[in-house]
Amino acid sequence: MGQKRVLITGAAGFIGSHLCDRFIKEGLQVIGMDNLSTGSMKNIEHLFPKKDFEFYFHDVTKFVHVPGKLDCILHFASPASPIDYLKIPIQTLKVGSLGTHNLLGLAKEKKSRFLIASTSEIYGDPNVHPQTEEYWGNVNPIGPRGVYDEAKRFMEAITMAYHTYHGLDTRIVRIFNTYGPRMRLNDGRALPAFIGQAIRGEDITVFGDGSQTRSFCYVDDQVEGIFRLLMSDYTMPVNIGNPDEITIKEFAEEIIKLTGTNQKIVYKPLPTDDPKQRQPDITKAKKILGWEPKISRKEGLKITYNYFKKIIDNK
Ligand code: UDP
Repeated sequence: MGQKRVLITGAAGFIGSHLCDRFIKEGLQVIGMDNLSTGSMKNIEHLFPKKDFEFYFHDVTKFVHVPGKLDCILHFASPASPIDYLKIPIQTLKVGSLGTHNLLGLAKEKKSRFLIASTSEIYGDPNVHPQTEEYWGNVNPIGPRGVYDEAKRFMEAITMAYHTYHGLDTRIVRIFNTYGPRMRLNDGRALPAFIGQAIRGEDITVFGDGSQTRSFCYVDDQVEGIFRLLMSDYTMPVNIGNPDEITIKEFAEEIIKLTGTNQKIVYKPLPTDDPKQRQPDITKAKKILGWEPKISRKEGLKITYNYFKKIIDNK
């Protein structure tokens, strides 16, 4: 059979770059693809000297060509923060729709296993709590998040269609809030925003009254879940996330404590369609993949804090 070869799109992004590391460690050949619209070469430059790593600078919304065999394709290219959706809404729609279609065509041609990065956003502002894979969601198609949510919903639909109509071997992971090193400091997300503000001595900006909840998963746990799903034979969607739920206000207080700063919290308007609560039901991941998160928020935040501190200190 020889060495397995995998294509990872969004390779220069946060989760994509961690996946590249993991697959190289597992002894696979990795082709990373990215157009650097939101990713950064800094996340993967350490991989360039490795013989098992190749990089293609390419926009997957254009026809994708990769010579040679491809055992697996993982589609992780997409803007993934509310600030990005506002800045590049059309690209966000295209990478989830046209990009997925191009990559499905490539997977069909190469007979590759195909895994897509879906998201808890497909549940919208959920009426079912915690969210199970059976819940269909509550999404506003024309709101600011619609460009992301609907692209990801289309992505699931077209991937399922290739699975049933063409017999393609597919996997769908629904990723819940994930954090860790290589997140962008200024992508507008709560975690880098709060840590950055605390380190720089600025007020912590909590949106709304801070009673909305999220459940944060450390990136190593996330990557382990994705890896196990890819290796499994389960073709229905699987939630991967950490069920440890917290309100955003408590989360801000936790970060103030962690950083040892005395920053005060200031309240800003809640963005449109900001989900009120979010927690993954991970019964499926536990049962089918034998997976559950191992890294506590305390541990994960410490590692992430050290990462951001270094970046800010070196500026
Ligand atoms: N949030 C906040 N202050 C910030 C950035 C975000 O209070 O500076 C809130 C945001 O409104 C949301 C939560 O934190 O309720 C998580 O936001 P994030 O963008 O990290 O993730 P998502 O909303 O996509 O889950």
